[in-house]
Amino acid sequence: RPRVGVLALQGDVREHARVLSDLGADVILVRRPAELAGVQGLVLPGGESSVIDKLSRAFGMQQPIRDAIAAGMPMYGTCAGLILLADRITDGIAGQETFGGLDVTVQRNAFGGQVESFETDLDVPLLEGPPVHAVFIRAPLVIDVGPGVETIASLDDGRVVAVRSGALLGTSFHPEVTGEHRFHHLFLETVRAA
Ligand code: GLN
Repeated sequence: RPRVGVLALQGDVREHARVLSDLGADVILVRRPAELAGVQGLVLPGGESSVIDKLSRAFGMQQPIRDAIAAGMPMYGTCAGLILLADRITDGIAGQETFGGLDVTVQRNAFGGQVESFETDLDVPLLEGPPVHAVFIRAPLVIDVGPGVETIASLDDGRVVAVRSGALLGTSFHPEVTGEHRFHHLFLETVRAA
């Protein structure tokens, strides 16, 4: 059984933990460096990226997570988690930092304003089966994709909402809230291969 963590500083930790244990993983809630050291992969949940950023620094987790990314630990970020994996962000709060690792620019709250949440069906050629029913909640957008990064899902107008690069996976939307298990399955396959 793969032993994987969910970063449990803030956000929809429980939803991710449930999907991962449904898929047969041993799930550890990670708040401390020692807990991170005991897992083979890490999920960064949806929530509020600026809060998770601040708490990760307060808990001494920023550098250990950056080191784990540099060492090739597989990670999957949804929404706020995608923001935290981006090398560059726009519209962050003052002083907001990320862990980085994905050579992308992510615009925070890209759909903000009047309509902050929406749902749509996405074609994701990488995943077998029906389209992905994707829920976007104050979601970010990937507005620039570096050369080593694969776009795995876009909206009908071409705007990028899911990317993969090496052992890192990120989605603007929240598969963990809709019973969609295929992204977590892909993450666990990466963990098994690592
Ligand atoms: N807007 C949030 C942020 O900036 C992300 C929202 C979410 O994770 N659903 O982190």
